[in-house]
Amino acid sequence: MSSSPTDAASAPVPTTPSTPGAPRLRIAPSPTGDPHVGTAYMALFNRAYARQQGGSFVLRVEDTDRARFDPTSEQQLYDTLGWLGLTWDEGPDVGGPHAPYRQSERLDTYRPYVEKLLANGNAYHCWCSPQRLAEMRERQQKLKQPTGYDRTCLGKTREERAQEPGFQETPVVRMRIPDDAPTSFEDLIRGTVSAPRPDDQVILKTDGFPTYHLAVVVDDHEMGITHVVRGEEWISSTPKHVLLHRWLGLTPPVFAHMPLLRDTDRSKISKRRNPAARLTWFREEGYLPEAVVNFLALLAYPPAKNAEGEDVEQFTFDEFVERFDWRLVNTVGPVFDMKKLDWLNGQWIRDLELKDLTARLLPVLVKDGILTDNPTLGQLGRLQDVAALIQTRIARLTEASALVAPFYDADDALVVDEEARAKLSPDAPAVLDAAIAALEPLQEPPSFDEPGPQHFVAAAIEAALRAAIVDGMGIKPKLAFGPLRVAVSGQRISPPLFESMEILGKHSTLARLRRLRATYEGSPAEG
Ligand code: GLU
Repeated sequence: MSSSPTDAASAPVPTTPSTPGAPRLRIAPSPTGDPHVGTAYMALFNRAYARQQGGSFVLRVEDTDRARFDPTSEQQLYDTLGWLGLTWDEGPDVGGPHAPYRQSERLDTYRPYVEKLLANGNAYHCWCSPQRLAEMRERQQKLKQPTGYDRTCLGKTREERAQEPGFQETPVVRMRIPDDAPTSFEDLIRGTVSAPRPDDQVILKTDGFPTYHLAVVVDDHEMGITHVVRGEEWISSTPKHVLLHRWLGLTPPVFAHMPLLRDTDRSKISKRRNPAARLTWFREEGYLPEAVVNFLALLAYPPAKNAEGEDVEQFTFDEFVERFDWRLVNTVGPVFDMKKLDWLNGQWIRDLELKDLTARLLPVLVKDGILTDNPTLGQLGRLQDVAALIQTRIARLTEASALVAPFYDADDALVVDEEARAKLSPDAPAVLDAAIAALEPLQEPPSFDEPGPQHFVAAAIEAALRAAIVDGMGIKPKLAFGPLRVAVSGQRISPPLFESMEILGKHSTLARLRRLRATYEGSPAEG
């Protein structure tokens, strides 16, 4: 082994040519637990540019860190990114010309590159035991020296090194960072970026797996990646990658480092502290994929403009692709503003076709036990009617459950919220009596003809109740309808009252009014 670096180019390095011209981008998540929201954010920007340019978007699974590997993580990644519609052209599940797309299945690929780096003196074996390295680090910290490998093994043969303490049988391979290693590079979003000088980084571990640094460079090259777009946290790694490209005689890709997603306290958003850092959370909480994608785009990109030059914050992925430009990406870490997400989600819910909203509510309602897996046609029809009533009243699909539940409860099983009942005015029994009397004469609406003023439909229900309670009893509308709302829905806040009564039908409505009335003393007034 030579210890002085020589120009790369001698050892053969296999190459797979990529289609000339079309950009190729990728995300390279590590399957280490629930997918992080940052993965979707990266997928979004990478995919947007690939789509705009007619290029390819690749999903590569970086599973070389066996200690943190989680076997369920990869499927969750497919599920969540697929749910968001951020699909990939090549990947472990769909294959592609550069398969395999899982690094653990590519170990043979990395070997010639390591050999070449060793042969050219750009890398060396290191037999230092983990214990020795820990002691070294501790000593450096105590002496307030920069931490980093002290090159104990550099220039030594195995036999020479074995004579010294802190030796282990199986070596790792380290990069030999030259003193004049370049530490700045060009970034598509940030311009010239400087990073700290790296130490002699490990590139091949004792288990024969490459580290991230080697694998990422080799795979980006082998897979013909033209643009490496990743989080800001990788800026400090980029000089190592640039060096590896240079040593191996490869053309480095274009680099772009996206701003980190930050929590309201400006710390990096983390799965430990914020549930919204988990990608699965958004689906569980009733966000629409369109809204999540829109939200993630807005975190690092300005809103669109309408013809009047005003900001338009709601846009689709395709609209985003059309106006995408790297120069407009923010470099300042965007804060995760959940109020904005709720607002956007509400907008997206309002824009859904009723059928679509109904279909999206269904799994939420099944999960919350309001509907069964196999709802009847009648139940589904009713759901569409209720969905129309609540469409403008919910910011998340999960908020629908409480509003929808009363429409599926049996009249005698409806749970009336104690607090809501306690807050009703003392007029409540009289109001309920008047309402029952006013609604009794209405008839179930005809199935085919237009309903008239005598039928049990929202307009006639409203007219009858207003006449009886507001006009007849002189009670203000705000107070007049409170008892009816509680009777019908069990809650103080409910979908629009008269429409709700129409959906429930005369029989259920009257049964519910009577049921609440029965909880008060005194006999009902004669209708
Ligand atoms: N495996 C790295 C990650 O988990 C990929 C970083 C990169 O895109 O280079 O984020």
